[in-house]
Amino acid sequence: MSIPTLTLNNGVEIPALGFGVFQTPPDETREAVAVALQTGYRHIDTAAAYLNERGVGEALAQAGLARDEVFLETKVWVTDYGYDETLHAFDKAAGKLGVDQIDLLILHQALPGEFDLTIDAYRALEKLYEDGKLRAIGVSNFMPEHLRRLLDATSVVPAINQIEVHPYFKQPEALAANAEHGIISQAWSPIGGITFYRDSGHTSALENPVIGDIAGRVGKSPAQVMLRWHLQQGRQAIPKSVTPSRIAENFDIFDFELTDDDLAAIDALDTGKRGGPEPDVITRERFALTIPEA
Ligand code: NDP
Repeated sequence: MSIPTLTLNNGVEIPALGFGVFQTPPDETREAVAVALQTGYRHIDTAAAYLNERGVGEALAQAGLARDEVFLETKVWVTDYGYDETLHAFDKAAGKLGVDQIDLLILHQALPGEFDLTIDAYRALEKLYEDGKLRAIGVSNFMPEHLRRLLDATSVVPAINQIEVHPYFKQPEALAANAEHGIISQAWSPIGGITFYRDSGHTSALENPVIGDIAGRVGKSPAQVMLRWHLQQGRQAIPKSVTPSRIAENFDIFDFELTDDDLAAIDALDTGKRGGPEPDVITRERFALTIPEA
């Protein structure tokens, strides 16, 4: 089946649902992505910092699909920020993915304490975009203030801002800032599936009774209900799984609709508590990681 698409601010289309591979072990990535591509996913989200871009590339090479049938997204890690460093980060990523052009390359985090370096990295993305090596560029975990500082200093508006969004943490201000600038919000941890670095004080959204009741009524699973909530509110979502049955389940969301009341009931579950790291405390020292050459 063909997946609905969203149109980025430069006219490029991205499937409304993608497949994430954070915490997918490098030696399991090829298989997970192969299953996803067989299932029908046509957008894969990886990152240099996940150390599994090579597995994504292998699955793509073996899938028997034309290169332009799959939308590939990856991220530059903070230790590769800087103009020349980020140009080189593209070479590393493209080499591991086995492609000449990457559909979407994004900055993984803002470095609020070294914003000039963040801007230099983004200018390298602009150059790669201008040269046709990228079809679109974007950012991740940029809060409204980070976006404002970026937009003041650069010329290409990011196509995507990939941020944490799930029923327990909706970030309305960040979603509104993205919308105001014509940036598509891409939801990470879309089914709230991970508990990150600190205790966010709640159990999995998959076990939430409000979501469970809606799921029972529409004859779908809690994960499917949450993914539908994102799509119906205009967000792109990138659920991760290494389990073939769940990879299929998360894709099977195009044959039902939630009502406005359902959407509002899920909106009301927001706790305001972030599961991932505070975007304002990201530094290269704290998140030191050397990204290997291709
Ligand atoms: P998700 O919300 O996608 O949840 C993934 C977890 O839920 C896994 O433990 C998975 O288990 C489980 N799961 C998946 N499908 C189902 C299902 N249908 N029923 C029950 N459990 C299920 O969280 P992620 O944090 O992985 O986020 C998704 C993607 O977002 C990442 O892979 C990555 O691409 C991106 N991301 C980006 C970040 C950033 O800073 N930019 C940070 C975090 C994520 P199993 O695999 O065992 O099946």
